[in-house]
Amino acid sequence: MCQTRSEQVQVNATFDVDEVGLIVISGSSSATVALTCQRCTEEFELELEVSFTFSPVKDVEAEAELPSYYDAIELDENGEVNLLELVEDEFLLAIPLIPRHSIKDCQSPADSVWGKLPEELEKPSPFDVLKKLK
Ligand SMILES: [Zn+2]
Repeated sequence: MCQTRSEQVQVNATFDVDEVGLIVISGSSSATVALTCQRCTEEFELELEVSFTFSPVKDVEAEAELPSYYDAIELDENGEVNLLELVEDEFLLAIPLIPRHSIKDCQSPADSVWGKLPEELEKPSPFDVLKKLK
């Protein structure tokens, strides 16, 4: 349903140490993804932009002490972080649950109600039926 369209995902990240000695990895990233519109089923491209502020922690205790404005990331067995994987996760979170064109770009008529017929088409009015009998 989703694939990354651009060959290169730009990631700008800064590594820093804050005033209490925590390592902080902050930055932003943008990528264009191809999504399928859930209204008209046509493919469309969406530019996503995410920003992040991570702080690596070595265990759950360190994670519990981490200020809430940092996102805790766990170090892998080599004591490293996989920044690309983390950024990928951020993108997955940024993708809308139900991807859709904006109304003006959508192939589907704007007045159709998704997944349900407009009421007036469901059944003819009883009065119209009576008129035909005359
Ligand atoms: Zn659409």
